[in-house]
Amino acid sequence: MHFKTIRASNSNYTIEIPDTCPHCGKNMESEQINDVYDRVAKTVALIFRCSINDCHKYFILEYSVNKTTVDTIASFGQLIQYSYNGFQEPAISENIKNLSPVFSETFVEASIAEAKKLTNISGIAYRKAFEFLVKDFASYQNQEKIEEIRTNSLNNVIDMFYKDMPMIKDLLHITRRIGNDETHYYREFTDIDIKDLKKLIYNFSLYINMILDIKEFSQKTN
Ligand SMILES: [Zn+2]
Repeated sequence: MHFKTIRASNSNYTIEIPDTCPHCGKNMESEQINDVYDRVAKTVALIFRCSINDCHKYFILEYSVNKTTVDTIASFGQLIQYSYNGFQEPAISENIKNLSPVFSETFVEASIAEAKKLTNISGIAYRKAFEFLVKDFASYQNQEKIEEIRTNSLNNVIDMFYKDMPMIKDLLHITRRIGNDETHYYREFTDIDIKDLKKLIYNFSLYINMILDIKEFSQKTN
């Protein structure tokens, strides 16, 4: 932080501002473009522009202020921290969170990576999340075979523990193959992407949700 004289509400004030640009991260002396005084919230938003040639992006610093009369700012207070966290977490049902905490955590992390356009990482993470969901649901339905499910390959677990559900077994093998495309050197499907992988995982989670809801409400209504 360093001191800079800025203009707000037609007066000059010397305040502390950050040394670096929030966009390019470089040290720079920002140029003040404008100011917005919110009399009710008692804050001033200062609009700056990065002075680095290949950046030149605008950013806003908002400060709390003390005022004397209605229109006069007495002094500047704290810089209000912005996080710009516009990420919306994917909705995961309580059923799924309880059944497979690792799936739920990994799926959220994959979504964060995807939102940040880290598609190499997000694809692998969705594939990992999918494996946990398949194995955790198989374990839930076959409590005596948890060790066998844990140590077997995803391919084998789908064949062994979903054989009585042919449509679901197909869904899982298709999802597994598409998921593997995110991890392997050779890409099998060129016209299928992460959005499709997510859609298929979501469909499987809906199926699990339905089974768990049926069990819960069967017990409650018995
Ligand atoms: Zn910049």
